[in-house]
Amino acid sequence: MHDCVVIGGGPAGGSAAYHLARRGYDVVVLEKEHLPRAKPCRGCVSPRFTPWFDLDFTPVVTRHIHQVCLSWSLRDPLEVSLPQPLWMVLRPHFDQLLLEAAVARGATLHQGAEVTALLPVGQGWRITTSGQVFTARYLVLADGTLGRASAMAGFTHRVHQVGAGLEAQVTLDVPPREIAYLDLGWVRNGLAWSFPRANGYSVGVSVVRQTGRAELALQLRRFLRANGHIAKDCPVTAHPTFAWRERQALHTPDLRALRVGDAAALFDPLAGAGIGHALFSGLEAAKAIHLSLSGQAQAIPAYSALINHGLGRHLLGSRLLADLVYYNPKFSLHLLSASPGLLQTLASFVTSDRGHLGPLRGLALRLIP
Ligand SMILES: Cc1cc2nc3c(=O)[nH]c(=O)nc-3n(C[C@H](O)[C@H](O)[C@H](O)COP(=O)(O)OP(=O)(O)OC[C@H]3O[C@@H](n4cnc5c(N)ncnc54)[C@H](O)[C@@H]3O)c2cc1C
Repeated sequence: MHDCVVIGGGPAGGSAAYHLARRGYDVVVLEKEHLPRAKPCRGCVSPRFTPWFDLDFTPVVTRHIHQVCLSWSLRDPLEVSLPQPLWMVLRPHFDQLLLEAAVARGATLHQGAEVTALLPVGQGWRITTSGQVFTARYLVLADGTLGRASAMAGFTHRVHQVGAGLEAQVTLDVPPREIAYLDLGWVRNGLAWSFPRANGYSVGVSVVRQTGRAELALQLRRFLRANGHIAKDCPVTAHPTFAWRERQALHTPDLRALRVGDAAALFDPLAGAGIGHALFSGLEAAKAIHLSLSGQAQAIPAYSALINHGLGRHLLGSRLLADLVYYNPKFSLHLLSASPGLLQTLASFVTSDRGHLGPLRGLALRLIP
């Protein structure tokens, strides 16, 4: 029986596997795709996470963002400098780097291994993939928003707010400007964006409420055209997002399975960010499993409590703020342009991975019940 099986090889699963393997545990990662696998994602992340890993991430950083430009239907641009530059990473290579680091520390990675069934057995779980059966004392459920592992492990009650993102990859011969553009006038309940990539832009639309894919695709095509891009030349991918809605248990009653990353709805709909939270939850889940394997069974509920009281509250504030901003985007932009201090606070808020709530979250929590 393995110490732990991690289902999913994204940032959440990679982080959990890395931190368990470096402590010497017998950990297996099951990833249904083959590496490097694509994930619809701009790849914009705050480098705050780097101290959590003894790794050099710079080979997968393609751009640095120092400025954000907000606009209304591509008019009235409002520029703000970021307190910390953000990184643009290539997701397939970022995720691969993390998994390879976990393997270098002793983890075993199975690619093309889709988990199809989970069964609690004795002191652990039996995990079935298309070709093999594994047993493990602990499970890390890191299979993102499209995975079914959480449901298979018994998390049947849905406690997240469903949104979506559609991303088009625009390739250009000239280097992109290292500014992130966010437009609040293009999409209802969300925004349109353009972020620099290695050789062009990641252009997309994202919404915080359920919206038909055809409607989003139409808005994206129009946004691409308005920015001078030829829509039919840009490959488009779509993916749901799950935003945190309320307190929830992130472990099973048997204290042997934990949810992390997008599978736990740790996506920030205001910043459009989930990578940092996925890495953080993977790190904390690994710590909890380590403590539990060392005899502290309460470490598993403590993981749920930590995420609920810290990151969960941050994400709740963020979701409420996103609702406020997207409910009346024109007024929000007007308010921000009239108050540079508020704009700077918002910039600090959206670029911090967690913890930096300030007065904005308090305001949002008060305004929306
Ligand atoms: C359009 C869009 C743009 C985004 N842009 C950003 C951004 O700029 N910055 C940011 O921080 N976040 C962004 N996000 C969010 C970010 O992509 C996610 O929060 C992040 O990928 C979460 O990581 P994860 O490891 O939890 O899940 P994932 O990255 O989704 O990884 C889950 C893994 O599990 C595997 N899997 C699923 N089911 C199974 C199974 N049954 N068996 C085995 N393996 C399985 C999948 O193949 C996948 O590799 C964006 C999201 C979208 C949709």
